[in-house]
Amino acid sequence: MTNKEGPVALVTGASRGIGRAVAARLAEEGAFVFINYFSNDDQAKATLEAIRAAGGKGECARFDITDTESSAEAVKAIVKAHGRIDILVNNAGIREDRLFALMKPEVWTKVVDTNLSGFYNVTRPVVRAMVKKKYGRIVSIASASGLTGNAGQVNYSASKAGLIGATKALAREMGKANITVNAVAPGFIQTDMLDGLDIEQLESTIPAGRLGTPEEVAHAVGFLCSDQASYITGQVIGVNGGMI
Ligand code: NDP
Repeated sequence: MTNKEGPVALVTGASRGIGRAVAARLAEEGAFVFINYFSNDDQAKATLEAIRAAGGKGECARFDITDTESSAEAVKAIVKAHGRIDILVNNAGIREDRLFALMKPEVWTKVVDTNLSGFYNVTRPVVRAMVKKKYGRIVSIASASGLTGNAGQVNYSASKAGLIGATKALAREMGKANITVNAVAPGFIQTDMLDGLDIEQLESTIPAGRLGTPEEVAHAVGFLCSDQASYITGQVIGVNGGMI
């Protein structure tokens, strides 16, 4: 990594689920982790407490990734305090499933704004800071739905496919700047996001016969954020129990 104090990381949507596991994993590797979240103060604090209890370092950073200005302000504040951001994990995301014919414009917009425009809002100011330091690791959490499409998720699948396209294009722009840009595409992972779904039915579609854990996704993310992954860029790694 770039300096003796260890890397500075920002993980969006780290109050719960996959983001929480990623934040814990990066802290374990020695990063100072900024735990972004939207509304869930208690859960964000719980993520931070768990990191500190394990001997790690971090801070909570509440901002709405759909808001271009507050995202830029939050990134600026981190860079001002720590001098840099070495690792960005674009993890925050939502789903709001409907059959396409019944999907009102606001349901389309809300999901695309969060899952895809959120990437723009956070990544752009971070990249500008990374370019100055000539170092960076950017990993975005896409989805198997972005690769295969999923009925009832035209908005979600489109946003995740867009995220994959953005990842590949940005990787090409950043190749010579020593900044890698990759995506991880999970299958079905045991988090709040699966609330209300028929888990047995989902498991019957997975060759591994079970849901994945947030930690299993975090291992892949942790590797892509490490120095060992220095020649991996523009790639999408599936963590899906063999589903696709
Ligand atoms: P959760 O629903 O468990 O957590 C979502 C996180 O995103 C929360 O921390 C939430 O904050 C945050 N968030 C939501 N909207 C915003 C916003 N506007 N600004 C800032 N933070 C926001 O999700 P998962 O852990 O399951 O999913 C994480 C990522 O992985 C998502 O991108 C998702 O699409 C993707 N994924 C998940 C899969 C799964 O099976 N679980 C499968 C494939 C991909 P708060 O707590 O404050 O609400």
